[in-house]
Amino acid sequence: MTESRPVRVRFAPSPTGDMHIGGVRTAMFNWLFARRHGGKFILRIEDTDQERFKEGSLDGILEGLKWVGLEWDEGPDVGGPYGPYIQSQRVELYQQWAQWLLDHDKAYKAYETPDELELIDKTLQRTGKRGYDRRGRHLSDADRARYEAEGRKPVVRFKIPLEGDTVVNDLVRGPISVKNEQLADLVLLKSDGFPTYHLANVVDDHFMEISHILRAEEWISTAPIHKLLYDAFGWEMPQIAHVPVILKQSGKGKMSKRDEGAAISYFINGGYIPEAVVNYLCNVGWSYNQFDAEGKEIQIFSKEDAAKVFDVTRVTPTGTKFDLVKLNWLNGEYIRRMEPIKLAKYLRPYLQEAGYEVNVDVLIKLIPIVRERLKTLKDIVQVAGFMFKETITVDNPELLIPKKATAEQTLQVLQIAHDLLAGLPEFTVHAMEEALRPQAEKLGLNAGQFFSPIRAAVTGQTVSPPLFETLEIIGREVTLERLKNAIALMETQQVK
Ligand code: GLU
Repeated sequence: MTESRPVRVRFAPSPTGDMHIGGVRTAMFNWLFARRHGGKFILRIEDTDQERFKEGSLDGILEGLKWVGLEWDEGPDVGGPYGPYIQSQRVELYQQWAQWLLDHDKAYKAYETPDELELIDKTLQRTGKRGYDRRGRHLSDADRARYEAEGRKPVVRFKIPLEGDTVVNDLVRGPISVKNEQLADLVLLKSDGFPTYHLANVVDDHFMEISHILRAEEWISTAPIHKLLYDAFGWEMPQIAHVPVILKQSGKGKMSKRDEGAAISYFINGGYIPEAVVNYLCNVGWSYNQFDAEGKEIQIFSKEDAAKVFDVTRVTPTGTKFDLVKLNWLNGEYIRRMEPIKLAKYLRPYLQEAGYEVNVDVLIKLIPIVRERLKTLKDIVQVAGFMFKETITVDNPELLIPKKATAEQTLQVLQIAHDLLAGLPEFTVHAMEEALRPQAEKLGLNAGQFFSPIRAAVTGQTVSPPLFETLEIIGREVTLERLKNAIALMETQQVK
């Protein structure tokens, strides 16, 4: 890329609700771009629309970005040389530049009340137009003085050139062009002294020395307006790229807040691995497009790998469907491939949340035998929670008795298993297998029936990871103790 300015990009969310997965993807493209070009990734909070502000959403943004590992170089919590990074703390700056535009005849004060504006809009509609008829442009000093004396609070409106075209060259889509006559004299500073999005965004991008803007497609129509603002100020506009929307799984329309997987919290709370989510998002609207030695497309890669080859001009202009099935598959792949120590770190909180005290050594040993069964990290509780229970007491004999077998056979199985396991020279999978497997036939049971009471006695459940591996990890002492308890229970049944 031929670029003279140092690369500085920003993600500029408004704290208006749950962090959307599309926002995470936009942030990620910015991060990839910054890392690719050795630049800086900045987080700026655009919170000047007080009416849309939602308590708690700022924390949600920070938490969401941290969870996916998109660390920012400058931002509200880490600071930086261009701060503050929260717009509500920069209001004076916007007021100062609104005044500059007024002083240079590039903006004007307008005094209409909301009712008057509604009427103007209605009247314009009769001529096929909408919005504001620019009447504030023509006020005399006397008019203004009169309004001020009435106590009216003005807004500051941008004097959009009445003729000509404005063209912005989008790095993804090529030229975006608009006829200036189609643009309204939009409000830059509201009557309460707060800036609108347009003014704050342009002033900040300029003073934060942003070199490239990568943002969501929904902002396209504002690009020419911003270009006119940069021109009015005499500032250079950053280069700009609009990234496509994420479509619903059905492909019909934009993914909305209510769609499954639309909020990053869905993944944080749902037992997903952040690396898998990021890996997936890289292929939404862009593609890694790298191949292995056999010519197969590489599916599993890190954001650091992606950053090495990220090319914003390869972002697609059209929307891409959100594919939760693919993401779930990737999540499973990460679970299957991850180093046991690292995976244990991810799994542990879910067990703790379910109330288990986790022995990490046991958890690490368990990983090879449970990981195939985990679709999400959360599944560990179902699959292996029993491993962390202090005691397992089976008080329902039905749990122990296999299908199509009797209570008597069940008691025999438990006794044989207990005695053979107690006598094994070594308590290993291989030794257990050799000792126990031939016993089923002797009792007229199949292997499934024979192992079922042992599994239920030791794990307290009818489904478990592979039995002998599980017993080996649980250890001989605990296994025998649980078998004894089950035997005692079955004996009381015999007496009855
Ligand atoms: N605050 C805008 C948003 O919520 C940012 C738009 C931009 O990046 O310019 O998405």
